[in-house]
Amino acid sequence: PPLGSLAGLPGLRLIQSLWAGVDRLLQDPTLPPGVPIARMVDPAMNEAMAQTALWAVLSLHRGFFQVQAQQRERLWRQPPQPRAQEWRVLVLGLGELGGRVAQAIAGQGYAVSGWSRSARALEGLPTLHGEAALAEALGQADTVVNLLPLTPQTRGFFDAPRLAGFKPGASLVNLARGAHVDEPALLAALDAGRLGHAVLDVFAIEPLPEAHPFWRHPRVTVLPHTAAQTDRRSAAAVVALNLQALRQGLPLLHGVDAGRGY
Ligand code: NAP
Repeated sequence: PPLGSLAGLPGLRLIQSLWAGVDRLLQDPTLPPGVPIARMVDPAMNEAMAQTALWAVLSLHRGFFQVQAQQRERLWRQPPQPRAQEWRVLVLGLGELGGRVAQAIAGQGYAVSGWSRSARALEGLPTLHGEAALAEALGQADTVVNLLPLTPQTRGFFDAPRLAGFKPGASLVNLARGAHVDEPALLAALDAGRLGHAVLDVFAIEPLPEAHPFWRHPRVTVLPHTAAQTDRRSAAAVVALNLQALRQGLPLLHGVDAGRGY
């Protein structure tokens, strides 16, 4: 909702976000204190996110974005064909979305590892936490998929020093929030050829302004914030369950820790 719109509701007992990310909601300085906040966790949204991530990883691994560009030039050129198990994918954020994405990508044979704030176990997959482990994993990954929430700790996460730590020629898939990325730093890394490609679903300003260099950049694929939309059919059931829990005084589902930021 627009900033400030929840401030005038004295009877408010629950703020149920219809989005998975609550970064914008938490930035509202007039948010009524003490009212619990729940976010959307929707299996249909998780599946949609897994599809988008899988498409991006597969296209990057097989060079299909370049092939698409070649078609416009009528160029017949076969890209290299590494095996999936030779393609390392690092998923940042192992929550509802990141966890599902990591498993979906691993299900296609890719060498997947995941990183989160605290230690997390994912069946059959190596997981990491902490800065030192991240630096090493970033330097080895062919494709990095971002599914972190936007918090004060993760704002500007992909800045110039972090991007410099990527494996040369690696690709970034940002499916989380635009503010995770320092856009000029990303452009510089792409222009210098240090990064091979970026698949971007989210941007600092949305819709992406017409004059933005991402639109026409040969190493950028732009999506209109469509990686995973809320599916009203399944999301409505999640909201109904939470209303029921509230009325019965039971613990709420998918509660947000405002202090933590997600
Ligand atoms: P979630 O369940 O809250 O999971 C967040 C994950 O990120 C957790 O594993 C958490 O670690 C980790 N994390 C948080 N802060 C971290 C930090 N500072 N360093 C390292 N790891 C950190 O969130 P989700 O439901 O998966 O959603 C993730 C984000 O996706 C949302 O916040 C939203 O921005 C984005 N999203 C985008 C779209 C789209 O269409 N593009 C759609 C929906 C959501 P712990 O496990 O230790 O808590």
